[in-house]
Amino acid sequence: KQEAAIEEKHHISPPLAWENVMNVILVAAECAPWSKTGGLGDVAGALPKALARRGHRVMVVAPKYGNYAEPQEIGERRRYKVDGQDMEVTYFHAYIDGVDFVFLDSPIFRHIENNIYGGNRLDILRRMVLFCKAAVEAPWYVPCGGVCYGDGNLVFIANDWHTALLPVYLKAYYRDNGFMIYARSVLVIHNIAHQGRGPIDDFLHVGLPHHYMDLFKLYDPFGGDHFNIFAAGLKAADRVVTVSHGYAWELKTPEGGWGLNNIITENDWKLQGIVNGVDTDDWNPKFDIHLKSDGYTNYSIETFQQGKAQCKAALQRELGLPVHDNTPIIAFIGRLDHQKGVDLIAEAIPWIASQNVQLIMLGSGRPDLEDMLRGLESQYHDWVRGWVGFSVKMAHRITAGADILLMPSRFEPCGLNQLYAMMYGTIPVVHGVGGLRDTVHQFNPYEETGLGWTFESAEANRMIDALGNCLKTYRNYKKSWEGLQKRGMMQDLSWDNAAKHYEEVLVAAKFQW
Ligand code: ADP
Repeated sequence: KQEAAIEEKHHISPPLAWENVMNVILVAAECAPWSKTGGLGDVAGALPKALARRGHRVMVVAPKYGNYAEPQEIGERRRYKVDGQDMEVTYFHAYIDGVDFVFLDSPIFRHIENNIYGGNRLDILRRMVLFCKAAVEAPWYVPCGGVCYGDGNLVFIANDWHTALLPVYLKAYYRDNGFMIYARSVLVIHNIAHQGRGPIDDFLHVGLPHHYMDLFKLYDPFGGDHFNIFAAGLKAADRVVTVSHGYAWELKTPEGGWGLNNIITENDWKLQGIVNGVDTDDWNPKFDIHLKSDGYTNYSIETFQQGKAQCKAALQRELGLPVHDNTPIIAFIGRLDHQKGVDLIAEAIPWIASQNVQLIMLGSGRPDLEDMLRGLESQYHDWVRGWVGFSVKMAHRITAGADILLMPSRFEPCGLNQLYAMMYGTIPVVHGVGGLRDTVHQFNPYEETGLGWTFESAEANRMIDALGNCLKTYRNYKKSWEGLQKRGMMQDLSWDNAAKHYEEVLVAAKFQW
């Protein structure tokens, strides 16, 4: 019944007042399933569909890094100046699930599919300059269903530093010259750690009038004045969103703001935290396509006990681990980066080794951390698997087959894996920061409430305490464990929820002068 109620909720949304129906253009450097390195790709693939379901006309603009099946060339080419050089962009289009996906083809985007953010600083900067310049004009030049979006009721959603130039271009090239005067921009902070920093001279490469220089200038106590694209975007955007309430708060602190805390504090009036949703077409144990073969199975809240047991056995078999139902499987999935705290797991290995568990880690990224994963697997081959690589299929299978998901991230703007885990009846044990704190409420054994375990600082010992309590509950309190699983699975974590909040921001931006 509860499930039916949740499903019903997904499909019914209140009718929009006509004046609030918007033309929305989300611009992102990656967009799943075509390109993805992390959560940003997932958001760019899913939020637009949810906004379209609410009645808006929605376009996504992303670079075309490879040969994609669906998008077709529309016969529109434009030239943009980047660093004094004319560069041609060809627009591709596909209409999927109610959304216009527009891909920009140019030689500088090709062949970097596996390394979207690779290359030297100026190469990356040139790519982003071209991307933002061509994206702003997409509503003028890309006919979607025969009709261009035009610039009435138009809101751009830019994402992270890669597209933070867009709000600036919108002002400098267009609004200042009497064009697109009703178009607005929202900038979403998915991760403040990357900002598009460089020496002041980088300003020469972005092709803006000289009086825009100050927007980019940021003082850094270590390096003096420098050029900072995120800073400029934050000031120029009409509204700013970040991916959780916890992260919105952290961004205003010196530790969490990475040098941008003062700018974010000054712009607090236009900042809002909105927790990401889950793309339930993609991540849903009931329909998950990756669980349809190799002994895995789909399951729902009614069948999760048998379903998870079957997935667990399939996972153990696939990875060559002993097939034991009672041995808890602890999993880690994520980019191998200092941020994700995978080194804390390595530090805790001697303790974990004493717990009679199986540990499965999936990740790619920093070469030394990749070596660490391989090393742990070969040293503890009986119970550890360290899968180095990016495998969407394995991410789904591990999420379904594991009992516990460990996320010791040092910081985590939102975090998606803990959301996926809860939807699949896998219990998260997380460092209580950012979005992890917002979404994983600490288990209370007296009241039988909460969704998992949190620990208060990113230290191996704290993680061990939380994981120890979690394992104790798994082994000795089956009813409590089941309750945790059910509460997790019953939440409505879909994008429909988040899309309503985005809509409020878009409407607020529209009325911003
Ligand atoms: P971030 O954006 O910081 O990387 P998120 O938790 O927001 O972190 O999103 C990570 C996304 O990338 C999730 O969908 C996760 O499953 C996926 N992911 C990360 N590493 C891998 C990997 N090695 N293989 C498959 N998927 C991965």
